[in-house]
Amino acid sequence: MGMTREREGRRLRRAADVNCAFLGNPNVGKSTLFNALTGLDRHTGNWTGKTVDTAVGFMRGAKKRTALWDLPGIYSLGATSPEEVTARDFLINTKPDVSVFVCDASNMERSLNLVLQALPLSKNAVVAVNLTDEAAKRGVFVDIKELSRLLGVEAVATSASNGTGVKELKEAIIRAAEANGRIDREIPDDPSDPKWREAEAIAKRAVKRDADPISSRRLKLDRFLTGKFTGTLSMLLMLAVVFFITMVGANWPSELLMRGLTWLKAVIRGAFVSLNAPDALTGALVDGGLGTLFTVVAVMLPPMAIFFPLFTLLEDLGLLPRIAFNLDRPFARCGGCGKMALTTCMGFGCNAAGVVGCRIIEDGRERKLAILTNSLVPCNGRFPTLTALIAVFMTAGCAASGLAGALLLTLLVLLAILAVFAVSRLLTKTLLRGRQTSFVMELPPFRKPKIVRILIRSLLDRTLFVLGRAAVAAFPAGVIIWILANAGGSTAPIVRVTGFLDPMGRLMGLDGETLTAFILGLPANELIMPLTLMLYRGAGTMAGGDIGSVLTANGWTAFTALEAIILMLFHSPCMTTLMTVRRETRSIKWTLAAFLIPSALGVTLTVALNLVREAALWLTKLL
Ligand code: GDP
Repeated sequence: MGMTREREGRRLRRAADVNCAFLGNPNVGKSTLFNALTGLDRHTGNWTGKTVDTAVGFMRGAKKRTALWDLPGIYSLGATSPEEVTARDFLINTKPDVSVFVCDASNMERSLNLVLQALPLSKNAVVAVNLTDEAAKRGVFVDIKELSRLLGVEAVATSASNGTGVKELKEAIIRAAEANGRIDREIPDDPSDPKWREAEAIAKRAVKRDADPISSRRLKLDRFLTGKFTGTLSMLLMLAVVFFITMVGANWPSELLMRGLTWLKAVIRGAFVSLNAPDALTGALVDGGLGTLFTVVAVMLPPMAIFFPLFTLLEDLGLLPRIAFNLDRPFARCGGCGKMALTTCMGFGCNAAGVVGCRIIEDGRERKLAILTNSLVPCNGRFPTLTALIAVFMTAGCAASGLAGALLLTLLVLLAILAVFAVSRLLTKTLLRGRQTSFVMELPPFRKPKIVRILIRSLLDRTLFVLGRAAVAAFPAGVIIWILANAGGSTAPIVRVTGFLDPMGRLMGLDGETLTAFILGLPANELIMPLTLMLYRGAGTMAGGDIGSVLTANGWTAFTALEAIILMLFHSPCMTTLMTVRRETRSIKWTLAAFLIPSALGVTLTVALNLVREAALWLTKLL
């Protein structure tokens, strides 16, 4: 049986004017090309008497009878597998007039290794660079002319599955067959060694790799966003834009909301009075509880409803990890680790969330460092107050007040990040000495943000969550403070507290009321400003509704606001965050440290600033 097949093979070979071998790695589309050239005229069998099947067919539309021999797919011409032996023997024994090397355009190096090994065994050759469509999708292009020049044989680009280049390949085979006899190559008996180095060299010169357009754009953008200078600049710009939109956008709805809620409060108060409710009850529930609650809502809701979606958008776009990436090196320099950049960024949303996020840091020492410094960056509960103070006391008269406010807020954020660096440095030299670990940060791809999901996620998950938490704390806190402020007339307990704290407050450039509000605002940072307003009102200063007039009536100046801003940046983390620190570190000592570190920083800075101012005032008076 084998013998008859072999004889049949020989007969076919003799019957052909031209014998042409098809050679290539497996799966490069050799059979597809072969079928395109031969049509259905195809006979498969082990023509060479080996166990491996070879197909033969006659090329359509050629003047001479041209037999195409589809040899098994192989990677090299060594004699280690039956396929390799079959292919090699065919080249050596049949001495085909033309060898067609089918190559994978995306994998030229591997293809060329076989080409270079088989080329010395071929009289005439054509290289078919197939799968060019797939390669192009990956941004890989083969310079056909250059390849042809380097190999000294004709090359054709093909895409067998859609028929591209098939006609050109046929013409090239015919041309090569006609050259037969003119190129009388000495064919060695044995194929030479693998030609990897040569294949690599040719591939390097003939293959152009311009990364696909999307990823090359991504690469450029990433280089810009994480560059030493451009990265820092774009990061600051991004923050400034977010703050600008938040500040400008929140003004008007905040005012509207305040007016609406003041009206609502008056209506409810009217209802209480008409129901003959006791004055103390009306005062405690409506003026105290509701008043504080409504202020929290009016002050916080609009900026949060704008800031959170924007923040989520940055996150969704993949920009937050890049901000963290930019902070990676400075963090490492201050003894922290790169992941601390991520947890610090989380802190801008919520310090408690940032502290929980520190779980991604494996090293215990570095995790503690990240936990202790997290509340040095302002969380969202503090942003609205910062925004309000800036707008009322710093940029009110400015031409472009929104822009100026956004820039100031960006500066404050920078100050906070600087504080994180400084405190980290200090801690790693004292309480948290130890060896630094390293970490590799992988930048996720830029993603198309899903707007609806962003809105839902940021409004429901973040805005309503934070607002709800603040509101739950605001009502009882308002009630308690109203009672403390109104029980016992002029010697109300709260007056004693504010009076007691007044000297300390004055030393910090503030007063007893503000300091009391900071302390009573421990449950949630959002409470501090509404509590301050209430304490002033409770003390008898019944000024108008808005923050500016109440504070100004109580002696606030731009300097007071600055001191309050600094204290707002650096003071004890809220109750929730402290409880989270306790849970995460399982240590009273570290919880205490988390409370003391930012508090001490805030007190020191405000006192120092006030003393400098006093000294300057004293000097100017002297001169
Ligand atoms: P062989 O093992 O070298 O004979 O490869 P085949 O001819 O069996 O082809 C392997 C697979 O690649 C098949 O699914 C073909 O349809 C596909 N294919 C062949 N040539 C091309 C091409 O130029 N472009 C693309 N996209 N697919 C191809």
